[in-house]
Amino acid sequence: MYDDKFHEECGVFGIFGHKDAAALTALGLHALQHRGQEACGIVSIDDNSDFHAHRALGLVDSTFSKASVMNALKGHIAIGHNRYATSGDTLLRNVQPFYGDMAFGGFTIAHNGNLTNAYKVREALVKKGALFQSTSDTEVIVHLVATQSEDTPILDRLESALKQVEGAYSLVAARDDLLFGIRDPYGVRPLLLGKLGNSYIITSESCALDIIGAELIRDLKPGEAAIVTKEGVTFKQMLPFQSKRFCIFEYVYFARPDSVIEDKSVYDTRRQIGVELAKEAPCPTGDIVVPVPDSGVPSAIGYAAQSGLPFELGIIRNHYVGRTFIEPTEQIRHLGVKLKHNANKAYIEGKSVILVDDSIVRGTTSRKIVEMVREAGAKEVHVRISSPPTKHSCFYGIDTPESGELMANKFSVEGIREQIGADTLSYISLDGLYRAVGEARRNDDNPGYCDACFSGKYPISLTDHDDGHPEKRISSLLG
Ligand code: SF4
Repeated sequence: MYDDKFHEECGVFGIFGHKDAAALTALGLHALQHRGQEACGIVSIDDNSDFHAHRALGLVDSTFSKASVMNALKGHIAIGHNRYATSGDTLLRNVQPFYGDMAFGGFTIAHNGNLTNAYKVREALVKKGALFQSTSDTEVIVHLVATQSEDTPILDRLESALKQVEGAYSLVAARDDLLFGIRDPYGVRPLLLGKLGNSYIITSESCALDIIGAELIRDLKPGEAAIVTKEGVTFKQMLPFQSKRFCIFEYVYFARPDSVIEDKSVYDTRRQIGVELAKEAPCPTGDIVVPVPDSGVPSAIGYAAQSGLPFELGIIRNHYVGRTFIEPTEQIRHLGVKLKHNANKAYIEGKSVILVDDSIVRGTTSRKIVEMVREAGAKEVHVRISSPPTKHSCFYGIDTPESGELMANKFSVEGIREQIGADTLSYISLDGLYRAVGEARRNDDNPGYCDACFSGKYPISLTDHDDGHPEKRISSLLG
């Protein structure tokens, strides 16, 4: 169901040296389901160096719950991928992991993020005769790895390929003797290393380690590769470190609250955002603090604690609403809000309600939720948002509307308040958000995070966009 949020586009998981590699990968992907719900896939590699693949549109549990599917995914190495995509891009040929039959043997790769020069690189490859199978930017890396002299070792091929691409990416790749993971030189998307017995895992979030009982070793550094073989794991600073720009929105919304990323609990950080928000934007007339579930919950807890007001589940979410049976037309979006959320009238009636949500994208959901809370008898409705206004599109792997469709791009905060029908509206400031992640304020010379969807300051060049290609992704350009 369309929910008027920014959406994470992908989650990745890879494991080396376990007899149940594919089953553990399926569990890991299940834990990462929030990072992509449109499609998923697993490629495994067995002791005979044979590759086995299963990819499908749909959720992990429906795709990998059949014994016939899992029994066919033999081997001690596996990588997997969850994908979110807008409907036009959800084509089976775009579902990862990708496989390539190279001069050195089989090779498989899966990627979270977005290459910002994929169109340019792809055009050059096509002119040289490359035949692309998909419209995904990830396939550019497959071709760059393939088209090198025959005796080039695999790690040199990967290094050369990755030095030709720009953008935000965390990727896992594998062949019959190797699991490989790397983050882009700015570390925009998360990627971390874990261990289960003697097996190593490279994945997007620690919740994917928890589900299989693996321990978190550490996050990979920007530009750092983890190379897992039967001898163990080694690290290499494969790409020159630029400056760290981890996506600050992962802490606001995308990551699971039970994950730990960059040594920070996502839940604690989200709660602290609520504390900072209450300091910056108190609500003297408020009676109760109500989260817009589920993503607004930790920040609402922090807001309530800081302001000394009761926290109540004044809106209940129906978790059993299918995602795809409603097309995201403007008319249906309005209905969709009521399918997903219902006001808990007994706690709202006659109260001045402080609603805490993580973001306002187009504003359609916020307007309907404010209306719903008023219809349930609220005396006043005050909206507090745990991110700064989202004025700019993301080009680094998050599915966002074009900037012209973003409400904060079109209206002032007061204008948005009017549009959504709230009595008051406040957003956390960018400095407030930085305080919540442990900084004194945003350091303009070296912020340490990407915050481009709030600030408009894009840390990585937008080559395709600047070259006049209007769409954000190669899948849109070439699909
Ligand atoms: Fe994250 Fe926003 Fe940067 Fe995209 S633009 S990587 S959503 S902070």
